[in-house]
Amino acid sequence: MNPMDCIFCKIIGGSVPSTMVYQDDQTVAFNDVNPAAPVHVLVVPREHIAGAAALTEAHAGLLGHIWITIPKIAAQLGISDGFRVVTNSGASAGQTVGHLHFHLQSPAPSVIMDRS
Ligand code: AMP
Ligand code: ZN
Repeated sequence: MNPMDCIFCKIIGGSVPSTMVYQDDQTVAFNDVNPAAPVHVLVVPREHIAGAAALTEAHAGLLGHIWITIPKIAAQLGISDGFRVVTNSGASAGQTVGHLHFHLQSPAPSVIMDRS
């Protein structure tokens, strides 16, 4: 996909509005427009990466940064006691936006927990 056609690249570039809750040189976080939890933020690298399936060794530093940043955002949002982080990879897993993103949610939406 051409990043110019990507809704998250447009949000990062400022041409599409969003409610930003965090920004640094590598990542942004903004409220999900269709929240599935009382707190539902999308943590997004500024770099256009199609999704988790497109990750390579070259992204190791970025991924470390994202995972160090997520608890900081959680603390800022007052959800350090409990939060869920989810990424969907591929349409069959529910990915609808082709730019890597991590759903940060609290409380966690209900899921099927019984794997017995
Ligand atoms: P996924 O389905 O895992 O790819 O997640 C995409 C998420 O992006 C969904 O939860 C959508 O509600 C959210 N979303 C789509 N467009 C926007 C937008 N313009 N601003 C904020 N969130 C959006
Ligand atoms: Zn993009």
